[in-house]
Amino acid sequence: VNPTSVTVIGLGPMGKAMAGAYLDNGYEVTVWNRTAERADPLVARGAHRAESVAAALAVNELVVLSLTDYAAMYAILEQAPSAALKGRTLVNLTSDTPDLARRAAAWAAERGAVHITGGVQTPPPGIGNPETSTYYSGPEEAVEAHRAALEVLTGIDYLGEDPGLAALFYQLLMDMFWTGMLSYVHAMAVADANGVSAARLLPHASKAMDFRYFLEFYAPRIDAGNHDGDVDRLAMGVASMEHVLHTAEASGVDTALPTAVLAHFRRGAAAGHSEDSFTSLVKVLRP
Ligand code: NDP
Repeated sequence: VNPTSVTVIGLGPMGKAMAGAYLDNGYEVTVWNRTAERADPLVARGAHRAESVAAALAVNELVVLSLTDYAAMYAILEQAPSAALKGRTLVNLTSDTPDLARRAAAWAAERGAVHITGGVQTPPPGIGNPETSTYYSGPEEAVEAHRAALEVLTGIDYLGEDPGLAALFYQLLMDMFWTGMLSYVHAMAVADANGVSAARLLPHASKAMDFRYFLEFYAPRIDAGNHDGDVDRLAMGVASMEHVLHTAEASGVDTALPTAVLAHFRRGAAAGHSEDSFTSLVKVLRP
């Protein structure tokens, strides 16, 4: 096993950045991508283009996968005879559901391969920066055996043996990220309708989107089942979201998002939580 030789399968923006980081670090890099010409710039920098999936698997023990979803992984790996997977370590940095990650780990094991699940927590420009990190789960000894190679990409945030864990934490992150960022995009539309630029809002948006204080305040209370309305009451949340909705409406901005938030708050109130904190919605969402 050559510790500085790696195969990268999947050359979207993420896989391209990963293969590039390995080249920057002096690795021998073999690449394969469904659309072969996407490998051209990497080949120009010294990467080897595998002519088939089987060839890509044959040259290296360490195989990094960066694909749209797990269906793409099967579509690719099933092009090679299953014996080609024997002895391989698949570092799957493709995001998908925890169940699919668990199934993929079992599928790999049946073929004599080890599957490490990854969930990358940075966009492509963060690849190669040790300050960024990736969730990993699966066999710890495999993660440790490949620590140096994984750390070429990002830092390691190891969560445990369950192959679904890295996928779960990644999805929790995305749940917060997309919903949170959509709130920014919506507020920006209202700002824009009122002549406020993104630059002008930026320092205020940065403060408003820094939820650390709230998370640290509410997390222990949620774990303790404490949803007391001593600091915030859902009834206040309903009134507050009505103001947001009316402001969006008056600005001629789409109201689907604040309407959905308000509907959640009203459901909580209807379930008897008017005098409780809005965190009581955890119970309403998961009865
Ligand atoms: P893309 O969706 O652009 O990845 C595309 C890659 O998947 C390409 O190599 C593409 O091949 C391949 N692919 C898709 N479907 C198939 C298929 N049916 N058969 C064969 N190959 C297929 O995503 P990114 O590169 O942006 O990201 C890769 C992974 O990393 C994703 O799971 C994403 O969620 C995750 N991620 C991405 C981040 C980002 O900011 N981009 C941030 C964090 C995680 P082809 O070139 O031929 O189309």
